[in-house]
Amino acid sequence: MGELPVTAETLPQVWVDGVERPRARELIHQALDQTQVHATDWLCTQCGEPIEGQFTECWSCGKGRP
Ligand SMILES: [Zn+2]
Repeated sequence: MGELPVTAETLPQVWVDGVERPRARELIHQALDQTQVHATDWLCTQCGEPIEGQFTECWSCGKGRP
């Protein structure tokens, strides 16, 4: 972003042709579904630490999400 402030006008955007809209919406929904799957909390299989869903590795021992 350089020196630009983060606002609604400076956030990245992807524009698609109208005929590609159904496919674009499908891809967005797929990406959101995957995000929700990984948003569930999990327990580290190595040390038993409870980890919040957005993390892919244990903060305590570094073991990856199962
Ligand atoms: Zn761990």
